[in-house]
Amino acid sequence: MPRLLLLLPTTTYRTEDFVEAATRLGVDLVCASEQPSTLEPVVPDHLLTIDFDDATAAADTAERFATRRPLDAVVGVDDLTAVAAAAIAERLGLRANVLAAVRAARDKHQMRQCLTAAGVRVPRFRRIALKDDPLVAAAGVAFPCVLKPLALSASRGVIRADDVDQFVAAFHRIAALLARPDLDLSGDAAQFLLAEDYIPGVEVALEGLLVNGDLNTLALFDKPDPLEGPFFDETLYVTPSRLPERTQETIRQLTAEACAALGLQEGPIHAELRVNDDGPWIIEVAARSIGGLCSRTLRFGTGMTLEELILRQALGLPLPSLQREGRAAGVAMLPVPRRGTLRSIAGVDAAAAVAGIEDVTITTHVGQALEPLPEGWQYLGFIFARADSPDVVEQALRDAQARLTFTID
Ligand code: ADP
Repeated sequence: MPRLLLLLPTTTYRTEDFVEAATRLGVDLVCASEQPSTLEPVVPDHLLTIDFDDATAAADTAERFATRRPLDAVVGVDDLTAVAAAAIAERLGLRANVLAAVRAARDKHQMRQCLTAAGVRVPRFRRIALKDDPLVAAAGVAFPCVLKPLALSASRGVIRADDVDQFVAAFHRIAALLARPDLDLSGDAAQFLLAEDYIPGVEVALEGLLVNGDLNTLALFDKPDPLEGPFFDETLYVTPSRLPERTQETIRQLTAEACAALGLQEGPIHAELRVNDDGPWIIEVAARSIGGLCSRTLRFGTGMTLEELILRQALGLPLPSLQREGRAAGVAMLPVPRRGTLRSIAGVDAAAAVAGIEDVTITTHVGQALEPLPEGWQYLGFIFARADSPDVVEQALRDAQARLTFTID
């Protein structure tokens, strides 16, 4: 029975889906988290504590474990674990991306430098030290611009600024976020931010799987809600894309070029692009799969989940089909609208009853303290839809969302 090491941070939404896929594949599963579990001494062959922020220490821990219980594959489920997973794979000689490529994709400044050098179209950018005077830094950018942390995800800390005053305010806001002890950042991620040109246009997300350096597009999602800032809450994702096929092809091509430029070769990638009259622009290529619970929109071949595809590839098992099922699908992520305590949730049954809605999953609970973007990172929940066309999916998601009420004090 092959043995799989799954890196599952305590904050991930993906535990259930990955563990279910591993169970379906019948692998001997070892789950690692950054917080020690009280059960670890009881099941030492299946639970492990790994410091995801220290790639060398992570590889040391996995190597020690593997001398006792050899590992056949390692999978990190998100951004927080991507570098540690690559370091462990490199140490143990397992199938995965090259560590340097994953590191470059994890640091937005390195990613921009690498893509620019390779001639892949990205916004003009400049790295700014948090110790610098923001008024001086603002003189070196064109407006509108976007300021962002180097290494956070889910749009956390990403802020649009249209003038110098907004730039200075955004700079201080991001600096305060990066200094928060719960983020526990170190190195460049704690000392710099990135400022780049704001790229207008429609936005899409490409979910892909790299196999031996070839990029397979698993799904191209339209993001039909305008994302113009100042903060960039993710809301609707709908696939297949309604953009013209020619445009979709240029998106796939640019994403493949970006993966090649970064040196990414194996495993899932999630890319965000903007498209305007100049064509597609890469906003980001991450060496991981889609976040939150959004993978639940995807099924392949005769119903395989994205998580199963990812695990199969890491284990070197056959990939029966990379073809997404024929029906249109989508998800509405429900952003936290404001800071406060969640007092009540209403309308879940009514939302679930909308034609085309497959599921409504609330991922917060009454009494929970909520924090919106740009500082927060959680979603109130997710709505999933499937229908015959992307238009019907989009409308079903909007109708369902309109039936939900969250009371926040
Ligand atoms: P994260 O990794 O936290 O998601 P991104 O760099 O992908 O950060 O930015 C999050 C969102 O912010 C993007 O999906 C996009 O909507 C918006 N955004 C980021 N950079 C730009 C930019 N240069 N121009 C326009 N919008 C941007």
